[in-house]
Amino acid sequence: MSLQNEEEARGDRRKNKTGLKHAWDSPREIQCGIAAKAEMIIQRVVLNSRPGKNGVPVAENFRLEESTIADAIQVGQVRVRTLYLSVDPYMRCRMNEDTGSDYLLPWQLSEVADGGGIGVVEESKHDNFAKGDFVISFNWPWQTVAILDGGLLQKLIPELVNGRLSYFLGAAGITGLTALLGIKEKGHVAVGANQTMVVSGAAGACGSLAGQIGRLEGCSRVVGIAGTDEKCSILVKEMGFDAAINYKKGNVAEQLREFCPGGVDVYFDNVGGDISDTVISQMNQNSHIILCGQISQYNKDVPYPPPLSPDIEKIQKERNITRERFLVLNYMDKQEASVLQLCQWIQGGKLKVRETMVEGLANIGAAFQSMMSGGNIGKQIVSVSK
Ligand code: NAP
Repeated sequence: MSLQNEEEARGDRRKNKTGLKHAWDSPREIQCGIAAKAEMIIQRVVLNSRPGKNGVPVAENFRLEESTIADAIQVGQVRVRTLYLSVDPYMRCRMNEDTGSDYLLPWQLSEVADGGGIGVVEESKHDNFAKGDFVISFNWPWQTVAILDGGLLQKLIPELVNGRLSYFLGAAGITGLTALLGIKEKGHVAVGANQTMVVSGAAGACGSLAGQIGRLEGCSRVVGIAGTDEKCSILVKEMGFDAAINYKKGNVAEQLREFCPGGVDVYFDNVGGDISDTVISQMNQNSHIILCGQISQYNKDVPYPPPLSPDIEKIQKERNITRERFLVLNYMDKQEASVLQLCQWIQGGKLKVRETMVEGLANIGAAFQSMMSGGNIGKQIVSVSK
């Protein structure tokens, strides 16, 4: 996959591309011949090897090691202890030497990986932050303690998510925004329009929220497609989907016909490939695809979005089905209001949130591998410290 990450690149990654340097990139200064400067020992996770563009990522692509950070912080910096880290499909692209995206830098071998993270401020020399504040960044280094530029951080209000801080990496963060804004911007969902929505990758972070939000926004029928019976059961019993299809069992086309007797009006597509071809074949005239992601293609060296096969493209054109690229970062002007909406739904119990929590920085590679191969229900999070 070469360009998939355009669809989920974090906004501040653009800053990386323009050369902003991370505080944690700074090589530690050791005074030759004299005693080393005071340093604090930390643990961190670096990229150990690349899976190759057509390879399947494994936990061993990452390596835990001991490192050090300066004992003292500079003006404008904060020292944070990491609480939670996020692993996301777009990171697959950063494992390649060339990300294929102008938003993303590749992770370098033996350098610390980074992504969405939440932590608590232990010491601050930045006016906006004080000891004890909870903060988030989308360029959080995968290490236990870090010194970060205050300018890269946003303060969090735990009450907004009933104290469940990790939700800011999922349902009340980029994941929730992706589901909500994807539907609002590309779904053409209208109350009273009697629309049927199908969601692929339905038990994952975005998918589980997308189905519920589709209903909240007015769809009369919501059907999910996911990879296990347990996931399908949760979608129906817990998250209010009308039906769910285990794509690894039985005939997806037949079950879709049964569960969507009036055809499909809105398709929230997280996976692409055969599943999407099957759904598109049952879409109605003037219907809409929300092109969120194509995870079934991420371990392949193909462009993003992968072109549809000629047969499916013919159906798309004949039925006037929209399939525009959707990138949540293009709608960040709507972030604040949308996060508040998501938090209200969470607080009011209207949005059921699931997380799969893995304990320990040492297990982040395994968590990534597991998420990429369906081991998660809801958002995959790594808990680094309490
Ligand atoms: P997620 O759904 O929580 O986790 C990935 C899931 O994908 C797995 O649990 C697995 O579930 C499914 N999967 C893996 N390989 C598959 C395959 N070959 N065929 C079908 N399903 C497969 O991850 P997420 O963070 O919510 O991301 C979901 C999608 O949204 C991804 O495509 C991602 O790139 C995209 N995304 C886009 C944006 C944007 O701005 N457009 C932002 C964020 C995320 P099963 O057990 O069901 O196989």
